[in-house]
Amino acid sequence: MEWHWPKNLEELTRLLREEGALIHAGGTAIREERIKSAVHVIDMSCLPLNYVKKQDGVWHIGATAVLNDVIDVFEGAQVEHLLVKALKNTATTPLRNRITVGGSVFLSPLWSNLMGPLLALDAEVEVVGKLNGTHKYEDLLSKKAEFHGSAIREVKFSDKNIIHYFDRFARTTTDYSAFTVTIALAVEKDVVDDAKIIVTGCKKIYERLNQAEAKVIGKKLKELTPGDIFENVNVEFADKPAGSGAYLTEVSKVFLCRGLEALGCAR
Ligand SMILES: Cc1cc2nc3c(=O)[nH]c(=O)nc-3n(C[C@H](O)[C@H](O)[C@H](O)COP(=O)(O)OP(=O)(O)OC[C@H]3O[C@@H](n4cnc5c(N)ncnc54)[C@H](O)[C@@H]3O)c2cc1C
Repeated sequence: MEWHWPKNLEELTRLLREEGALIHAGGTAIREERIKSAVHVIDMSCLPLNYVKKQDGVWHIGATAVLNDVIDVFEGAQVEHLLVKALKNTATTPLRNRITVGGSVFLSPLWSNLMGPLLALDAEVEVVGKLNGTHKYEDLLSKKAEFHGSAIREVKFSDKNIIHYFDRFARTTTDYSAFTVTIALAVEKDVVDDAKIIVTGCKKIYERLNQAEAKVIGKKLKELTPGDIFENVNVEFADKPAGSGAYLTEVSKVFLCRGLEALGCAR
């Protein structure tokens, strides 16, 4: 097995064409045996992709930016940003100094804290290699296998003016999330203009609650009645260490109601 440290995207693209190539970013989700069985290990750390910046109203996060880089920049720009809430509740400080955005987005595990917020923000990924170009994050999630042989170089999304709620359910602060709930509302003169309501960690990996969103849009914030809006919502979960599937369905509903209640009181 040979390790490579590409310094530019051309070198990375060339390496991605090699048979048996494995991308290594933070390395927090790659087992030792996987590295040993790879022919080429591509270490991302020397690429100029460690940035978090806003240009012309669009946020660009380079693949090798670690979670704490994102927290630091967004806290400086907007203390209450959705990503700050989500990422501060991910793993531990030492791990957040290693876990990269590119690795987290490509892996998008069932316990991901990034998935709900990135879906709510309509994020896109810039990719090099086989699928070179811009893709919706949603497409990466639904067609993951097609992205093998490609590397994420950047995640981007518009700087939207939203109010939001994010929470996750886990047994302890540092535990993997059993599920997450993200609610993002665009509000114009106290009336909800657009809504994204997403639960992750469920049987379908994530569920966007379109019917609940439709009930919220056009309503005044103070008129939101969570009990009615989520009345027929029953997100299905597999049994997990944090609880049975049926229990997680109930708790997720509590989180959804709590989130909308909190946003209704936000103004
Ligand atoms: C104890 C613990 C608790 C955790 N809890 C949570 C949690 O609750 N919520 C959460 O969201 N995360 C959590 N994580 C993080 C998560 O499980 C992964 O470890 C992390 O997201 C992987 O990021 P990485 O940079 O280390 O990627 P790596 O481990 O380097 O790579 C992961 C995968 O992505 C591929 N890859 C890496 N970078 C790229 C790229 N740029 N383009 C294409 N493919 C790429 C690799 O080949 C590999 O298949 C936790 C981790 C640990 C260890």
